[in-house]
Parts: sequence; C-alpha cells; structure tokens
Amino acid sequence: MKVTVLGYWGAFPWNGEGTSSYLLEADGFKLLIDAGSSTLNVLQEQLDPLTLDGVIISHYHHDHIADLGVLQYYRQLKPKGEPIPELPIYGHTEDLFHYESLTMAGVSQGYPYDPAESLEIGPFRFTFLRTVHPVTCFAMRIEEIKTGSVLVYTADSGYLAAFDEFVKGADVLIADTYLLAGQEKHHAHFTSQEAGLMARQGQVKTLILSHLQQEIDLDLLREQAQTHAGDQVAVILAQTNLSVTI
Ligand SMILES: [Zn+2]
Ligand SMILES: [Zn+2]
Repeated sequence: MKVTVLGYWGAFPWNGEGTSSYLLEADGFKLLIDAGSSTLNVLQEQLDPLTLDGVIISHYHHDHIADLGVLQYYRQLKPKGEPIPELPIYGHTEDLFHYESLTMAGVSQGYPYDPAESLEIGPFRFTFLRTVHPVTCFAMRIEEIKTGSVLVYTADSGYLAAFDEFVKGADVLIADTYLLAGQEKHHAHFTSQEAGLMARQGQVKTLILSHLQQEIDLDLLREQAQTHAGDQVAVILAQTNLSVTI
C-alpha cells in the first residue's frame, strides 16, 4: 500500500498547506483518511476525486472534516458523462449531527464503524482504538489484507498506554505530534517524547510526525522524537505530497 500526506498541520491551514488528510492506495483502491482544510486541492494533484472509492473519518473536529462538504459538492456537480457511484464515508456514530452529514442523497452514503469490531474496506482491514481527546476520536490500525503490511494512524490523542500494543510492529506510524517535549500527558495531543517512545516500544519501522503545530521549532520536535525513538526507527516530518510505500 501507499500512503500520501495531503495535509499535516494541526487545527488550521498555514502558509498554503492544509490540515490532516491522507490518501491510502492499494490494488487500485483509493481511500481518503480524514479530509482536512485545504486538502481537496492537494487530492486533485494526486488523482481525480471522482475516482475515490471511500473515505473514513477519525473524528469530527473541523481540521479533520473541513473539506468533506466540498468533496461532496465536487462529486455532485463535477461529473460530465457517466454517473458516478455514491461515495461511502465511514464514521463513528457518537456524534449523530456530524454522522448524518456524511450522507448526501445521490452523492455519498454514511456508514458506521463499530470500534469494537474490525472493518474491511476494499483491500484493507481496520481496527480501532478510542483516543484521549476532547471529543470522541478513534485511532486506526490498517492492515493490507494481501501483504500483511501495517499502517497505524493515531488520529488526535494525548498519551494512552494502550497505544504501545496498538502500534506494535507497524511498518509506518503516523502520529499526532503537536507538542514539544515537556508537556506530556496533555488532554488532547502527544508530545515528541511520547510519539518517539511509542514508536520504540512498538518496534515501528518509520514514524511520521504529523498534526504539526505552527510556529514551533519542527527540527527540534523531530530531534526530540528521534532521541526517544532510538536508532532503529526512522523519524520524519510530514510534508504535503510525501508518499511512503509500505
Ligand atoms: Zn486535529
Ligand atoms: Zn481533534
């Protein structure tokens, strides 16, 4: 599978680049994970959004869903020719107001995921972990069924011991690393130290620091994460259009 970063800032877009969104592809199947602000433009650089096969949403904070509505309009108004199928959009149901907005007649259909069960979407198998965050949010462990390769996306979370097991053996871990070291056990986000230690304990191969904070020293953030992750983990900062093949 291949994962491509479409947006990586936390909370709001910055300097022309967007907030959390990732494109996951395998065997011709194209899945969007979160749909952050300013990322529909980046998605269009990667593919025709009419060819997307599905979307999955970790939680309903604006920096993860801001471009979902305009993606629905794109698919409603853009087609000239063959009708396109309704887009499946997977989300949790603990916020019914937002869950119901996933469905738009003739354009998209919301599907619930049950965080206690695994879920197969195309070539991928998802399992979920409830995170530490001010609103209900789920991290995702995504296995490519055919190859067994594993991507873990923390979504938004503060420190949670259960992540050590959840990330175990992942080829790539995309971690919310909004905070520099010194602010551990935050109510909403990981620090560089926590992201690094999690990757080390889980024997993760590559750690991508994402959901980054504007106007902090990102080189220092990466160095701190690398120090705690140890030499066995490649630690990199997320960038727009960064693609990693797993
Ligand atoms: Zn966020
Ligand atoms: Zn959030």
